[in-house]
Amino acid sequence: TAASVPDLPRSGLPFSFELYPPRGAAAAAALTHTIDTLAAAGPEFISVTYGANGSSRTSSLDVLRYILTETTVDPMAHLTCVGSSHAEASRLIREFLDAGVNSFLALRGDAPAGLAEGEGYLGDLRSAGELVQLIHRVQAERVPYRESPVPGQPGARTLHTERAKVRIAVAAFPNGHPRSRSTTQDIDTLLAKQAAGANLAITQLFFHADHYLSFIQRARHAGVEFPILPGIMPATSPARLRRILQLSGEELPSELAIELDVEPTVEGQRDIGIRHAARLATQLIDGGAPGLHLYAFNEHDTVLHVLRRSGALPADSPIVQQVKESA
Ligand code: FAD
Repeated sequence: TAASVPDLPRSGLPFSFELYPPRGAAAAAALTHTIDTLAAAGPEFISVTYGANGSSRTSSLDVLRYILTETTVDPMAHLTCVGSSHAEASRLIREFLDAGVNSFLALRGDAPAGLAEGEGYLGDLRSAGELVQLIHRVQAERVPYRESPVPGQPGARTLHTERAKVRIAVAAFPNGHPRSRSTTQDIDTLLAKQAAGANLAITQLFFHADHYLSFIQRARHAGVEFPILPGIMPATSPARLRRILQLSGEELPSELAIELDVEPTVEGQRDIGIRHAARLATQLIDGGAPGLHLYAFNEHDTVLHVLRRSGALPADSPIVQQVKESA
């Protein structure tokens, strides 16, 4: 059965953040403060990335547990399936459900370093859609059900199940996945993920609102119904911009790159990154985006300022005041 589209809050535009598991004790301590501050802004969820081939399983789970126990925000676990057997992937999903996580971003994942793209490394699950199905199935095994006779219809029985409460997001690529043949293939992949039971998508970063808005139009025409949250990554230094482009395969946004290159101060560069990201966010809101997903780079200050400048967070929001005072 198709999963239902999750309810989004009726007032105010929903927003969410993405974090990665910390590397080392000092980074872990700093991250708790970041999570507390981001949580106080009232996000819909905070997602935590998953290292290639499970390299961050424990540290991702630690961050998700912190969000679950110390805040009222829904933690979303990124999971990848590349290289896993069916049994390993099921065990992983059970482990996260046991920890209390009920929101997932189901990803196929990339080829392990040093291995060329190809069939050999994939494992039992060959696409993100198959992982979506498996999450639903593992979750369904845990949900109680009962059958009862249908009155007046001898032999007929109705199956009563509790509605699945998992939120399963998937990745979407407005400018195409670097390895896909065409954007039509990306839309077809998204449709397959919907058929598998995904109920939300989050996009790869992009720099022009038109790229997202035209992708949404094509996806809707093709029959994609779930909300597609635009992923926004503020580029606050030339080094970060280069790294973002390397990771995403996106094209260099020339205006932003030039502005960052000629600005000599760190503070000035950060402000340029915030301004560009806030402008993009405003255009997306005006274009009808269902929410904003911000890649936070494990810092709260930049993303909260992007939300504030785009109008997604009111100026008098206590958390914005607090961030300003501590800046
Ligand atoms: P799919 O949706 O199954 O594929 C994406 C597109 O690429 C489809 O169009 C598909 O047809 C095409 N495609 C995929 N592989 C091939 C191929 N070999 N040949 C031709 N076409 C192909 N990765 C991590 O390891 N950890 C994370 O936490 C993580 N978080 C992410 C969060 C977001 C919001 C996004 C957008 C990506 C994230 N990724 C993460 C990266 C992701 O693992 C890669 O994009 C990966 O290459 C494909 O996974 P997918 O779920 O996008 O795959």
